[in-house]
Amino acid sequence: MISLYNKTLTDPLLLQIVEKVHAGERIQSAEAEVLFESKDLGFVGALANTIRERMHGKFTFFNRNFHIEPTNICVYDCKFCSYSRLLKEKQEAWELSEHEILEKVRSYDGIPVTEVHIVGGVHPKMGLHYFASLIKKIKEIRPEIHVKAFTAVELEYMCRKAKLSYEEGLRILKEHGQDSLPGGGAEIFDEELRSVIAGDKCNATEWLQMHETAHKLGMPSNATMLYGHIEKYHHRIDHMERLRKLQDKTGGFNTFIPLKFRNKDNQMSDVPEVSVIEDLKNYAVSRIYMDNFAHLKAYWPMIGRNTAQLSLSFGVDDIDGTIDDSTKIYSMAGSEEQNPSLSTSELVELIRQAGKIPVERDTLYKVIRNYGIAEETEVTA
Ligand code: SF4
Repeated sequence: MISLYNKTLTDPLLLQIVEKVHAGERIQSAEAEVLFESKDLGFVGALANTIRERMHGKFTFFNRNFHIEPTNICVYDCKFCSYSRLLKEKQEAWELSEHEILEKVRSYDGIPVTEVHIVGGVHPKMGLHYFASLIKKIKEIRPEIHVKAFTAVELEYMCRKAKLSYEEGLRILKEHGQDSLPGGGAEIFDEELRSVIAGDKCNATEWLQMHETAHKLGMPSNATMLYGHIEKYHHRIDHMERLRKLQDKTGGFNTFIPLKFRNKDNQMSDVPEVSVIEDLKNYAVSRIYMDNFAHLKAYWPMIGRNTAQLSLSFGVDDIDGTIDDSTKIYSMAGSEEQNPSLSTSELVELIRQAGKIPVERDTLYKVIRNYGIAEETEVTA
């Protein structure tokens, strides 16, 4: 029997989990299931926070970035997607021209953004060579900017259409200036569920292979998980397990980003959204389970600023970037943030209000500025 977080634990399984967390040991799938099933959110959160503080203290990371979404026209038909439009649905569809995209990049002249995040629908006519040339032009305008671009789903389609292996395709994009991959498109890896909610796009094996290939080529990436729809806890654990295994092999993931299912204007609108309690528990279990991921991110445009602040006490150490109203993916799905934009000072204030220390980072977690430097001396990013 040990006393922890103002409570006395007698359950041998919970005691075992606590001992493992304190010893810095990995928990197994059955233990993650116990945590997911726990009704004691405070306990699970405190456990996750122990790990968060051991890894990062009170430091909370953000970056200055903007998004480019070249198109929302998509050849696929994911049931949870509120964003995509088919080629024939011209009214609500957009296709930015190369000129418009480059003008957008130029509009940030003199503004100290460090990253451009490029994702969108899988357009049948915007191919790998088009995007490679676009990235080259972006880098000519802004040579120092980090280009994080294209989900594995977009990349798989581009490579297949161009009749290139993943390695050949990624090499071309890298040579033209692409630096890393975002984590989108992972959804939920379980084959049966995936076939229901995202049956026609790249499968789990292909998603993982794309990221493994990128890591091999020296392109780091992130990983996501879409939760809170028709999956059960064991599906989330299976998803995280596959990511954890790949991370053991390559070490190429920077951040794990759980993404909440939103139900507005999509083919799964009858599926209710999960509560904030569930969001926080999911962050906490993710932090405990994904022991080889350095960072856990709450994507504030998706969950809203208030939940993002709360998440910082449930294992999260990163709340993404300033974004500057440049993404529509979650606002179209009904998230709290309809025009997601935060200035750097607003982000800093949001983090401080949660009792944490803001640290501006670049994409690869190099510290740009530690806003708590007067209070604490060193950042362990
Ligand atoms: S989730 Fe992505 S791949 Fe699926 S329909 Fe939407 S834009 Fe297309």
